[in-house]
Amino acid sequence: MTALRDLAPSPARAVPAAPAEALVEVRDLRKHFPVRRGLFGRVAGQVHAVDGVSFHVAPGETLGLVGESGCGKSTAGRTLLRLLEPTAGEIRFRGEDITRLDARAMLPFRRRMQMVHQDPYASLNPRMPAGEIVAEPLVIHGVGGGRAERRERVAQLFERVGLRPEQMDAYPHEFSGGQRQRIGIARVLALGPELIVCDEPVSALDVSIQAQILNLLMDLQDEYGLSYLFIAHDLAVVEHISQRVAVMYLGKIVELTDRASLFEMPLHPYTEALLSAVPIPKVTARRRRRVILSGDVPSPINRPSGCHFHTRCAYAHARCRSEAPALREVRPGHLAACHLHDGGVTFPLAKPG
Ligand code: SF4
Repeated sequence: MTALRDLAPSPARAVPAAPAEALVEVRDLRKHFPVRRGLFGRVAGQVHAVDGVSFHVAPGETLGLVGESGCGKSTAGRTLLRLLEPTAGEIRFRGEDITRLDARAMLPFRRRMQMVHQDPYASLNPRMPAGEIVAEPLVIHGVGGGRAERRERVAQLFERVGLRPEQMDAYPHEFSGGQRQRIGIARVLALGPELIVCDEPVSALDVSIQAQILNLLMDLQDEYGLSYLFIAHDLAVVEHISQRVAVMYLGKIVELTDRASLFEMPLHPYTEALLSAVPIPKVTARRRRRVILSGDVPSPINRPSGCHFHTRCAYAHARCRSEAPALREVRPGHLAACHLHDGGVTFPLAKPG
């Protein structure tokens, strides 16, 4: 296995275009939020929550999106779904540009792009029986036939996600956390989506339940050909379910590649540090050597100059403080945003502790 510091620098190439068959693609997506201060709400700055990210998800694929809390991964998922209006960039679904569609034009796409939330309890209406919660999207979109047909459909969905149809009349508080997440998944499945953005769907659950929900999601993917954008801070979870993984730091993607390459041979110091902190069986003892991230995550309002990671990077050098590295293809299919991989730079310049 090759460690980050053993790699020979190679001339980096531009980010390759998404394949023509991409289900969804975002290009240079940005979402900034104004920071208001004072009595009159004067705009005093901008939070660059998502700052120029590009990726695609292929049909039937799971793309993991990882990073520490506050790195912008959830905002990226919500902006992709047009639950938040993008500040700039482009979103394409099956080749169609949906970036600026109004609410009416977006309606057919809403059925095809759904979201599973982190907290199943908070996302379910506590005053509605579980069956009605699952049927609600069918009512909103005017599909699924009459009441009896809808109830039949919901009963099938209950069975498919591992719940009993008799539980349709129970209320959310009568279910366990894992069962509530199953209700959330059944609700999302009701409209027959093609893409599901899973926003930390297991992080609120006990570890023993997490695997059950992940396996359910994988079974559903096999059965219905679903695509997932799987957002998580837990690398072990992402490693379990993803085919490719994108790593985010302060609003930008800093590394993107297939699962095996990321876990066996990370090219970005931030990924290396994240991997060193988690016990993943496939990560060898050498890779698991602790690389301490120095300092706190900088404020997204006042980000460090140059490479935003330079204040915490063990390999940082002078160029890192003044010049932002572009995300480039360092190896075939393996993208990283780090000056270490630009041709002509000798590294490592510093050795991780
Ligand atoms: Fe570290 Fe510099 Fe690479 Fe940024 S560009 S990750 S600071 S070595």
